[in-house]
Amino acid sequence: MSATIIDGREISKKIREIIKNQVKAFDEELNLRPGLAALMAGEDPASVSYIKSIEKLCANAGIDFFWHKLNANASESEILGEIDELNKDNNVSGIIVQLPLPKGVDVKKISHSILPEKDVDCFSPINTGKLFLGEKVLLPCTPKGIVRLIEEIGIETAGKKTVVVGRSNIVGKPVALLMLQKNCTVTVCHSKTQDLKKEVFDADIVVAATGKPGLITGEMIKHGAVVIDAGVSEVDGKLVGDVVFEEAKEIASYITPVPGGVGPMTTTMLLENTMEAFKNAHKDIISK
Ligand code: NDP
Repeated sequence: MSATIIDGREISKKIREIIKNQVKAFDEELNLRPGLAALMAGEDPASVSYIKSIEKLCANAGIDFFWHKLNANASESEILGEIDELNKDNNVSGIIVQLPLPKGVDVKKISHSILPEKDVDCFSPINTGKLFLGEKVLLPCTPKGIVRLIEEIGIETAGKKTVVVGRSNIVGKPVALLMLQKNCTVTVCHSKTQDLKKEVFDADIVVAATGKPGLITGEMIKHGAVVIDAGVSEVDGKLVGDVVFEEAKEIASYITPVPGGVGPMTTTMLLENTMEAFKNAHKDIISK
């Protein structure tokens, strides 16, 4: 039997509708709206297109959006100055800094400079540390979206074997931490893993995040496993994931497509985190 397709677009749409209604209610009652600021340097086409899509989603949800475009050769002190302004600005609930930054800019220094309360993509070391410690924090968007998709299908995660393929700081590692918090037994694979097929075949839940198209084939997947594919690559002009979808869907119980799986969840989680940061910033009046 073919797997149930986890429709990230539909799930995202529902979450964004909830956010939109919350924004409207706060605006009507308190005359306050959340605001998201995106800072980028230069005109990297992929970054411009990503930020444009966020701008549109914010507009649809009623969230104010502030696009801070700097020159491609902006200096570190210029960027730090902008972030300082955004940190102080009460209309800005959340800040994202789009990579890549100009040559010579110390990304670590930049990540340290964002107020943790406004760090809506878990970029700052303080928030990364809190994530590690399992403390309450604005979670990184893609890992949060992946876990939300798993929650949506309503399966028991406690005691399940999760294999995360990929160990980057932005996807693989945080997903592994979050699945540990959900009481899974977690294995993290990477390019030096000796027998990827064996590791993946052991998994009740597979999360692929490598950017290597076709890395996970159908024969690597255990019958009935849940397969979440975060990978995005372009092959012959088409977007594909890390998983051979047509094969895997005949074996898995649930599977995400690419596109339309994890991708839409990432931007939706960014809006949700902006809302959360806004609520935290106004918790005194909101709780009344
Ligand atoms: P990175 O390139 O930073 O990390 C890739 C990881 O995959 C590394 O840990 C690497 O191992 C591992 N890897 C590479 N080849 C293999 C292999 N043959 N076997 C096992 N592991 C391997 O990528 P990101 O984490 O930033 O992104 C991963 C994918 O997710 C990309 O396709 C990216 O586009 C996508 N992505 C999607 C998002 C979304 O919103 N849908 C958001 C962010 C990313 P090693 O550490 O040993 O090098």
